[in-house]
Amino acid sequence: MDTPDLNRVQMCKYCGGYDYWAQFCWKNGRQMCRECYKTDWKERNGWPYPWHDLDKSPFPTEEEIAAAKRENRMKIVEKSIKDFTILPGPPGTCPECGIEHEPGAPHNVQSIIYQFKFYQKNGRWPTWTDAMAHCNDETKTFWSEELTAMGIDFTKE
Ligand SMILES: [Zn+2]
Ligand SMILES: [Zn+2]
Repeated sequence: MDTPDLNRVQMCKYCGGYDYWAQFCWKNGRQMCRECYKTDWKERNGWPYPWHDLDKSPFPTEEEIAAAKRENRMKIVEKSIKDFTILPGPPGTCPECGIEHEPGAPHNVQSIIYQFKFYQKNGRWPTWTDAMAHCNDETKTFWSEELTAMGIDFTKE
């Protein structure tokens, strides 16, 4: 049996977010990240989780999350991602990413709807290049320049 490394960052199969293994909370037989735990608490009680105990420990850094993605640490949940039913975004939003944007503009790569839909179709996570594949050349050039200016490698992120 694998002994989990408690400082390891892993994907939360309920929200697709990331947290340290040791910070996952057990709730009704489900193991969920701190954000999911708070959301669950809010849904049951009608107001936001009022304590800060869960925020005392640091959250994973961008680098740790990137490493978790790179090292395929969502492998354990690959099956469940395929089984996920992705609910559409609010009415009037883009059917692909669930965010309100012009049809010719890129999808929101950060949208969990977009990421999961893309993963289900392609078996990998989307990059900005994927998110703007449907845009015209002018838009592509504009976004590529914007992302480069922000220090983002749009072919990888
Ligand atoms: Zn979660
Ligand atoms: Zn979209």
